[in-house]
Amino acid sequence: MKSWISNRIGRNGAKPATAAPARLVFEDVSRIYGETRALDGVSFQVEPGSVLCLLGPSGCGKTTLLRIASGIERPTSGRVLLNDRVLAGPGAFVAPEERGVGLMFQDFALFPHLTIEQNVAFGLKALSKDEARRVALGMLERVGLAHYAERYPHILSGGQQQRVALARAIAPRPAVLLMDEPFSGLDVQLRESMQQETLGLLREAGATALIVTHHPEEAMRLGDRIGVMRDGRLVQLGAAQDLHSVPKELFVARLFSEINEVTYAVARGAIDTPIGRLPVADMADGTAAVLGVRERAIQLTQGNGGAGAIKGRVIDVKFLGDAALINVQAEGFAEPLRVRTQAGERFEEGSTVHLTIDPARTLIFPGLLQEGD
Ligand code: ADP
Repeated sequence: MKSWISNRIGRNGAKPATAAPARLVFEDVSRIYGETRALDGVSFQVEPGSVLCLLGPSGCGKTTLLRIASGIERPTSGRVLLNDRVLAGPGAFVAPEERGVGLMFQDFALFPHLTIEQNVAFGLKALSKDEARRVALGMLERVGLAHYAERYPHILSGGQQQRVALARAIAPRPAVLLMDEPFSGLDVQLRESMQQETLGLLREAGATALIVTHHPEEAMRLGDRIGVMRDGRLVQLGAAQDLHSVPKELFVARLFSEINEVTYAVARGAIDTPIGRLPVADMADGTAAVLGVRERAIQLTQGNGGAGAIKGRVIDVKFLGDAALINVQAEGFAEPLRVRTQAGERFEEGSTVHLTIDPARTLIFPGLLQEGD
């Protein structure tokens, strides 16, 4: 299959001007609706040609941020810039159609009364009709749907509609592409292949992309960097590995791994746990600290275990295909610990086991003291 980029090489062989990769910048952006602070001083940049995923629960402000970047919405304060050009800010506002920013919605939003080719050509108003048609066909060819060019969207499956929506969003070569939960309407298997296809298209086009999702795995698959949001704020921004290994907050840790959480009171700069006395940084005596132990970071053995191993009893075992989830009542812990092992090794309910937890691999966060702690 010819790539879309080669399709755009002009008749004389010269490549047409393409949008240079652009940097999208948010500077202290806030958006207030009545009593609701939908965005509260958000600052970050999406580097040219990179993909940044915004991850967070429903209502944390992700869509509002996209709408502000696209120009559908204005910030209450702060600025949005594309390279050095102010798109929105005090005394400045560039209309959505003048921004060079494309927006792709959750529900694909194809126009039912236009053919599939006309849908893709929709944003190519700057080109002649023939040229727009040629680019749209090239794009459809690129996503494997050129044979449907003359048909209407209702005949397409969900995945095909997604491809057309993607072709339509990328055809005008936007400097920045904004995508709001683009895969949420697709089933799991289709979602994975569409994620790969989308990444391929974005890389080919050199587009800078900001993608909203509430699936951590999707963010990890797609994003060069991930921005985690909560309550209108950007909590942490970084590569998936960094967010996974050094989460700044318990909230972030929970998104990227399954963890056991045990609360302790801080005493003399440390917490006393069954795996030893662990120092806590910057937490006052008497406050609560949550010890986070990843389910996969606990080693289970049937025998005696090595030095420092904790004795426990298997409460129940659930097989999850590649892994097993085992509940173990371990000595010194008030509640059972969840342990994820590689399937293969068998642990019997009621049997005695030993647990090894590497303190260096645990996480400690400020927490809330509950009654009885
Ligand atoms: P997300 O996309 O992360 O689910 P949104 O950006 O849609 O979150 O919403 C963030 C917050 O702002 C929510 O509390 C939402 O109810 C509120 N909000 C969004 N748009 C409006 C609006 N037009 N009017 C009033 N409140 C709004």
